Amino acid sequence: MDKNDELYKAGLLLHGHKCPAMPMGLRAGLAALEALGVERALDGQLTALVEIDSDHCATCYADGVMMSTGCTFGKGNIRKLGYGKFVLTLIDNKSGRSVRVATRNEVIKRNQESEFIQFRKKGVPASKIDAGLVEPSIEYILAEPTEKLFKIDPVQEIKIIPGRAHDFNTIICSECGEVAVERYARIKNGKVVCIPCAEKA
Ligand SMILES: [Zn+2]
Ligand SMILES: [Zn+2]
Repeated sequence: MDKNDELYKAGLLLHGHKCPAMPMGLRAGLAALEALGVERALDGQLTALVEIDSDHCATCYADGVMMSTGCTFGKGNIRKLGYGKFVLTLIDNKSGRSVRVATRNEVIKRNQESEFIQFRKKGVPASKIDAGLVEPSIEYILAEPTEKLFKIDPVQEIKIIPGRAHDFNTIICSECGEVAVERYARIKNGKVVCIPCAEKA
């Protein structure tokens, strides 16, 4: 894969700035799809569990995972496990087959030692760093053979707990007049209200 790949270009559009972590997630997602022998999720066929948390290096990883696997915040089929690790587990919800893809330590170290990260440590936003400093890292992540980037565990079978059906019913809050999904309606002084209005004194 190189910078002209449609998936990378779309990932960049979604993500906003050039960094090595987004393509790392992109490649992790592709590696997981390949290991499971499944296609990118058009609906909720797959679940992605990412071990990153928030406010630490390389959290941009999750945007690459969303782009390549089709597991997105909007569909609700991607979850952060909050361990601060650059690992993806992708689950095929139908068969229960799952695969864990961990970024190799030397790949993370290579990024951490890059000039790009030295600027990031000083608090420079990624978009303000000269693209020439980050592009070699991106090209490396995009082009490197999968097995050099990731440790891929054997595919496992896990037990799938079926999720609930999507709720399409809505209410109109009698206080603020805004629409809310019915399941989130509360009764306050005998009237149907949304949660923020229910919690207001
Ligand atoms: Zn980024
Ligand atoms: Zn309300």
